[in-house]
Amino acid sequence: MNTYQSALFDAARFVRENERFLLISHVNPDGDTTGSTLAMALLLEQMNKSYVIVNQGPTPEVFSFLPRYDKIVDLSSESINETFTHVIALDAADSSRMGDVTHLFAPDVALLNIDHHPTNDAFGTCNVIVPSAAATAEIMYDWCEAASFSLNKEIATCIYTGLLTDTGGFRYSNTTPHVMEAASKLLTYGINSAEIAERCLESITLEHVQVLRRALQSLEVTHGNLVATMQVTNQDFMETMATNEDVSGIVNYGRNIEGVEVGLFFTEIEQGVIKVSFRSRATVDVALVAKELGGGGHARAAGCTLKGLSLQEAKDKVWWLVTKALGVESHE
Ligand code: 5GP
Ligand code: MN
Repeated sequence: MNTYQSALFDAARFVRENERFLLISHVNPDGDTTGSTLAMALLLEQMNKSYVIVNQGPTPEVFSFLPRYDKIVDLSSESINETFTHVIALDAADSSRMGDVTHLFAPDVALLNIDHHPTNDAFGTCNVIVPSAAATAEIMYDWCEAASFSLNKEIATCIYTGLLTDTGGFRYSNTTPHVMEAASKLLTYGINSAEIAERCLESITLEHVQVLRRALQSLEVTHGNLVATMQVTNQDFMETMATNEDVSGIVNYGRNIEGVEVGLFFTEIEQGVIKVSFRSRATVDVALVAKELGGGGHARAAGCTLKGLSLQEAKDKVWWLVTKALGVESHE
């Protein structure tokens, strides 16, 4: 048995031998963490186990079509008076990505950490970390196969959503033959793949378009046209009524410009709190750059949050690190 198989079996034992679980999706949840977490919830239901699902904040409306979406407790508006001995984190690259949740952990907590980020620091007591997986949802798929959990239309919908969104609609370089095999198998459960794609990839809000207009206006192309930077200020958020959810995907406009290697997107969440999204085309490992700033992610898509800096200070800091990573000088 290889190490992946044995990690999958350990994870199966973790759920089979226990009864009640706390499920955690990562902060600023995306389709992969949400789909994987809801797939886990459905699998636990099949095994007659009980669970509570939490996220530090709200889970984007776009995922409301997923089964058990309504069960996700938004800890920013609801509190839970229970501690858990068995916790499962899905798609969280490190313990900080679970958000402010440790008050829900019993002193003798056991934590199953299922993730595909190469920067994952194995913070669980049981870890299934597969950097070669395109999505945590792909690990969930493999887990169902390895542990003989039965799939159904609802579970398949959740897993497919994670695969679809983390591969950018099966376009990114992480779209392997195995991803396509898994997607193909999931389609046999009668899932509505066109509707999932429409909801997750095609639909945009009016606020998104309004904030996008401002982000595009802010575009700066530097480093000999290798770096494209856009930003959204706190004022932009207020004036367009946009939320964090509405800025999803904007970073790609910069990265997609022909010849650009690194796309950067700065959002001023509040004064002195700047979220940075990194995307690269082919050579720069942006996970390493983000990691230097306390964040992480993947070689082609990463992020971090900088505190105590103005937007300009945050840009200068990131540009300096990107200059080093590119090995070229920055010039306007
Ligand atoms: P996004 O730019 O879409 O928010 O994130 C891109 C990728 O970077 C995702 O895989 C996400 O999980 C990861 N990421 C974003 N922000 C952080 C962060 O603050 N810490 C870590 N470790 N990963 C992050
Ligand atoms: Mn993921």
